[in-house]
Amino acid sequence: NVTGKVTADNLVEHFPLCMQHLHRKLRELRHLKHFGRIQYNLFLKGIGLSVEEALIFWRKSFSNITDDTFQKEYAYNIRHNFGMEGKRHDYTPLNCMSIIMNKQPGPGDQHGCPFKHFSEDNLKAFLVQTGLRKDEYLKEILDLVRGRHYQIACTKYFEITKCLEDSNIKDGGEKHLIETITHPNNYFEQSLKLAKT
Ligand code: SF4
Repeated sequence: NVTGKVTADNLVEHFPLCMQHLHRKLRELRHLKHFGRIQYNLFLKGIGLSVEEALIFWRKSFSNITDDTFQKEYAYNIRHNFGMEGKRHDYTPLNCMSIIMNKQPGPGDQHGCPFKHFSEDNLKAFLVQTGLRKDEYLKEILDLVRGRHYQIACTKYFEITKCLEDSNIKDGGEKHLIETITHPNNYFEQSLKLAKT
C-alpha cells in the first residue's frame, strides 16, 4: 500500500528536495508546523495517498502525542486538505511558484523551497548529503540560486543526480534533459518514470 511505501526510502528518493526536507524533519522532530503539514500533506495526496492513508501516515509520524490530541488538533486539517471538511474544497498540491513566493518560512518552520529559503551553507550541505558531490556541479547549482533561478537549479539538480552522475549521458549544457520543474509532484513523476525505464 502507498502509506507503507511513503515510509520506505526507495520512494522518498524520488521526492524533490523540498519534500525530502519535510520528510526528514518529520522523522526527526515527530512534528511539523502548520504550513509544513499543508505542503507535505497535499504533495502526498498528489502522489496517490487516500485520506485514510494520510491520516494513518500522520498519526504514526506524530508519535509523541496521544490519539486524543491528534484527533483534536490535527485530524481535521488533514481531512480538510482532502476536501472532507468545511467548504469541501478539494485542494490541489502546491506548485513551485506558490511554495517559493507565498508563506515565507520563519524560525522553526520547515516548509518552503530549499533552493530559495535555505542559507547557502545549509543548501550546499543538503546537496552534498543527497548525492551531489562534484565541485563543478555544486558551483553550477549555487550560481543558479544566486541568480534566483530556483526552479532551474532544481531541474539541474534532478538532471545531475538522476541523468548524469550514474550514467554515460552527456551533459547537454544549455539543453535540458527533462522538462523544467514547476511542480514537486511533476518532479516525483518524472523521477519515478526514469527509474522504470
Ligand atoms: Fe520543491 Fe519546486 Fe523548490 Fe524543486 S523548485 S525544491 S520542486 S519547490
